[in-house]
Amino acid sequence: MKIAIVKETTEGERRVALIPDTVARLVKQGFEVWVERGAGEGAFFPDQAYVEAGAAIATDTAAIWGEADIVLKVGIPNPEEVAQLSSGKAFISFLSPLANPQLIQQLATQGVTAFSMELIPRTSRAQSMDALSSQAGVAGYKAVLLAAAALPKFFPMLTTAAGTIKPAKVFVLGAGVAGLQAIATSRRLGAVIEAFDIRPAVKEEVQSLGAKFVEIILEEETVAAGGYAKEISERAKAKTQEVLTQHVRDADVVITTAQVPGKKAPILVTEAMIAQMKPGSVVVDLAADQGGNCEGIQAGKSIQFHGVTMIGTVNLPADMPIHASQMYSKNIATFLQYLVKDGQINLDFTDDIIGGTCVTHNGEVLNQRVKDALLVSSH
Ligand code: NAD
Repeated sequence: MKIAIVKETTEGERRVALIPDTVARLVKQGFEVWVERGAGEGAFFPDQAYVEAGAAIATDTAAIWGEADIVLKVGIPNPEEVAQLSSGKAFISFLSPLANPQLIQQLATQGVTAFSMELIPRTSRAQSMDALSSQAGVAGYKAVLLAAAALPKFFPMLTTAAGTIKPAKVFVLGAGVAGLQAIATSRRLGAVIEAFDIRPAVKEEVQSLGAKFVEIILEEETVAAGGYAKEISERAKAKTQEVLTQHVRDADVVITTAQVPGKKAPILVTEAMIAQMKPGSVVVDLAADQGGNCEGIQAGKSIQFHGVTMIGTVNLPADMPIHASQMYSKNIATFLQYLVKDGQINLDFTDDIIGGTCVTHNGEVLNQRVKDALLVSSH
């Protein structure tokens, strides 16, 4: 079984799908690994390290895409790349299938068996393949470092001969994987933390990390299938914003991470709330590329807005490419080992991991939500 690691083509993407350590393990298990020349450079893994791990460096991009049994990538492939894939071959990466139905249609039309890493089920059995979680953890960590660097204050409490410094107050909105890591990182830096999420189940996790949970009783179901958040009613949004206003005003740093799968990110912090923050405060919005949780945020930019530094992050894991790649590599290799049995791809669609992750096979789009998105985009 020939697998290929290709160079990333999305602007700013510095991660690589497999790191040399993982390649060495896969080679030992009988996989033949091709690495496109320079594929690991952005993450500081030189070609030589892949050669030492037992991979072959390939320079003919068209041959890699066309001949490998499975092509692996981190980011979404572009249409020209997909056009090079041969029928009957497999492709694995983050595909953002709901946001890119046309690309998924192209993969199906080409006869490619494509798997989307976003669709790995969030179950304990699939935990070591869960790339959404591993990368969200990186983003949550990095968001705090960006905030700390931009804040004109210390994070920890300091007692010095020059007086006592009060600890920074951090408010984390959305306590999923990224939010919890943001809480843990802020805590390590000595801040005092509050957090809010519409899923009441996270209260204990927030508290166990040493943060205070801001509780708002919404009197409606906020959790959808799979434990994800649901879009809440206008009434619940108004109630939430009323309570959040005071907590946002008191914070030195606000970190927002709230997402609802398949929907635009909810606005949690309005311009009026930002205008009430202390000058010099910092907002980091991890949902900026999904429309943002904060009014006025600009994806990929750091701006001044009512005296507040507003950082709209895009693809933060790519800014920590060594460890982000190491974790992604572990996720994708575990999935690969699960998928390939005796040198063959084992397409057991009744298996929740394989069936849930496969978006195209044999000319068909398999995932119902992607099919629905295609219907919407064709009207
Ligand atoms: P996510 O990135 O989809 O969203 C981030 C957080 O934003 C979530 O906690 C969500 O509840 C919250 N949110 C959404 N709308 C909000 C609003 N209006 N106000 C405040 N908060 C809002 O979430 P995620 O980190 O991918 O986690 C999603 C789910 O998957 C969670 O239930 C998580 O516990 C679960 N999960 C399970 C496993 C596992 O079992 N192996 C692993 C990872 C995640």
